[in-house]
Amino acid sequence: MQTSRLLAVVDTEASPVDGGHSRYNDDPLQQLLEVVNQSDNAFIVGGPDTRITFANAGFTSMFGYTLDEVLGRTVSACLTGPHTDMQAVERIKRELRQTGGGRADILLYTKAGRPLWVSVVANPLFDADGAFTGVVGVLADITQTKMHEVLQYKLLHAMAEELPLPQLMDLVCREVEHIAPEVAASILAVDAQGQLQALAAPSLPVEFSNAITGVSIGAGVGSCGTAAWRGEPVTVTDIATDPLWAPYKDLILPHGLVACWSSPIMAHDGRVLGTFAFYYRTQRGPDALHQRLVDVSLHLCALAMEREESRAHIHHLAFYDALTSLPNRKLLRTKAERAVSEAQRAQEPLALLFINIDRFKHVNEEQGHGAGDVLLSEIANRLSQEVRGRDLVGRQAGDEFVAVLTDCSTEQAAAAAERLLAAIAAPVELPSGVSVHPNASVGVAMFPEDGQDFDTLLREADLAMRQAKHDGRGCLRFFNDAMNRRTLERLSLEAALREALRLGQLHLHYQPQVSGSAGSVLYGVEALARWEHPQLGPVSPDQFIPLAEECGLIDELTRWGLGEACRQMADWRARGVAVPRVAVNVSARNFQNPGLPALVAELLRQHGLQPQDLTLEMTESVVMDTTEGVPATIEAVQALGVHLSLDDFGTGYSSLGYLHRLPIHELKLDKSFVQDLADNAAARALTNTVLRIGDGLDLTVVAEGVETLMQAEFLTSRGCRVLQGYLYARPLPADGLEQWLAARHADAGP
Ligand code: C2E
Ligand code: CA
Ligand code: CA
Repeated sequence: MQTSRLLAVVDTEASPVDGGHSRYNDDPLQQLLEVVNQSDNAFIVGGPDTRITFANAGFTSMFGYTLDEVLGRTVSACLTGPHTDMQAVERIKRELRQTGGGRADILLYTKAGRPLWVSVVANPLFDADGAFTGVVGVLADITQTKMHEVLQYKLLHAMAEELPLPQLMDLVCREVEHIAPEVAASILAVDAQGQLQALAAPSLPVEFSNAITGVSIGAGVGSCGTAAWRGEPVTVTDIATDPLWAPYKDLILPHGLVACWSSPIMAHDGRVLGTFAFYYRTQRGPDALHQRLVDVSLHLCALAMEREESRAHIHHLAFYDALTSLPNRKLLRTKAERAVSEAQRAQEPLALLFINIDRFKHVNEEQGHGAGDVLLSEIANRLSQEVRGRDLVGRQAGDEFVAVLTDCSTEQAAAAAERLLAAIAAPVELPSGVSVHPNASVGVAMFPEDGQDFDTLLREADLAMRQAKHDGRGCLRFFNDAMNRRTLERLSLEAALREALRLGQLHLHYQPQVSGSAGSVLYGVEALARWEHPQLGPVSPDQFIPLAEECGLIDELTRWGLGEACRQMADWRARGVAVPRVAVNVSARNFQNPGLPALVAELLRQHGLQPQDLTLEMTESVVMDTTEGVPATIEAVQALGVHLSLDDFGTGYSSLGYLHRLPIHELKLDKSFVQDLADNAAARALTNTVLRIGDGLDLTVVAEGVETLMQAEFLTSRGCRVLQGYLYARPLPADGLEQWLAARHADAGP
């Protein structure tokens, strides 16, 4: 036996021998034996076939076998197990003969089947003639150091490289599974809502991870949900029978996983950040190795998760607006620039919307800055709800917001801008109880037509927004080129409308307004214009009425509408169809025309109607119009005995102070309030107020847009006498209305 070689091995791998104790024996071989038996390391000596001929006490304490039990057996037969890397074992054997020694870190198993990470150093023995006579191996348990080395080093290194949290957690799971291959590891986060979120579980079925994501933690929610809830580890050795798993067992048992041990990952302030779980394929709990693995891992996981939290927090502070939680100007720019370059690459159009709240200064000054803040955050909410997933909205400054709409044509941008305007326009209740009706002006710039980069688009959208303000607020304007194109489209629509008026292609529909118990009495009808274009199909009045106003056709349209309504009324009168009155919508512009009263008088005379047969519906904007002559025109119409009705009441910014001075008979409660009655306290409060005002000033209140029985009952119970809406009838052609009347008559019986 070549003792010198053996000694060299012992020297590096075993604890040094105290020189003072070597007095027992001078024989180096005896000294060696003493060292060997005192060492914590395992020493094995084997023959040329690696059958064991000697093993020390360290071997017994490390692996649990006595010398008798292993004598004559091969090393691999005793110590390898299901997850031993057999290639590494073969490599050592090869190196033993070829290079005179081999070493490797290998997973071996104790007599009880417990896995151990062991550093193996093996050296060959030769006789005097140089023939291979056997092998001597020194085995050191490195489980603990291995864990630290692998986990700590690798995780910290990955954190330093800024890997995202799920990747870090995946790494922890994989390394743990490498050290303890009999477990399937899983790491879940617990989010702010107390719901589980799968972070990593490389050996669990994806469907399982998906299924438990979003589950709320609780007193009986599997191992992990319960561990997170209790803040302490939960061991379930038999998923099939444990009540904690009853609702979830079918998700996991089919995959051969039957036991689960989960430990909470705690933040330093005691919050539960997540859970770290081991799943097993046999009914069992953790062993000492697992316990140590988890102890090490929990710290590392907490470190990574807390770091992620504070990173997210810092990110939020730096890039999001504190008041509205929208991206701030800086993040907006970054994201918008990215969106523009993506649009460039994908050759897709993009729209940039510049949104400015109208008269925000008023709210701030009159209601205080707190109220201004409430208004801004409510509007921010509405904006972020309206934009689609890929789109972007941010706060540019003060009361300015910017939206970037990807893959968005000019038409879609116009539609989206109108949607945003409508969302903004819903009433906002301030903390003081005052309700305001916000409006905004929107400027739109289009990529690529208007500009190739964010800064250009932003500047142009801003300019377009100013144009919208200039044009009367509450509307949208495009920047140059696209705007021109739209104007062109409008011109052709305008030509078509002109032609329709000339050729008599417009029609009136009539929507009943009912009163009495269960709406049994017809109060009157509202005339609503309809245009069926031969090529375009039906064009909505919301489109062609504003168009007619803008292009100066509105006088002609109103003249036609009034004439047609009067003709129809006279026809009904002549045929005994009982329609008490007809209401005709008259635009604000029409009141700027001093000829209006004369026209109305002439039409009444021509068709033989009484003034009370006709109501004119006008909006609040007419009343606010201080243009020379407008108040006189209103007076003159009233003087004829024709009734006036205030349409869309409640949607304007105007004060109520003027109401009692006005020669009106009727208020029309705007349909937006009626539609919000069910779920909006502000709408109910406003409705009550409008009804009380009507009462106080002796005005009939007509509620429009009544669609449900619930709305009708609410309104009637608050004293609203006249209701109009789809619940009773849609706007109908004249003959349709007659049939509707006849059917009601028949229903009511003789
Ligand atoms: P408006 O005067 O507020 O008319 C009421 C609108 O609500 C009508 O839309 C009507 O069809 C609709 N409506 C009625 N009941 C319900 C309901 O239960 N639910 C819902 N969601 N809607 C209901 P329409 O006919 O599309 O008219 C839109 C607007 O165009 C009118 O609003 C009015 O401002 C204007 N308009 C229509 N015809 C004329 C007209 O001859 N002259 C003028 N100047 N404006 C007109
Ligand atoms: Ca109306
Ligand atoms: Ca209305």
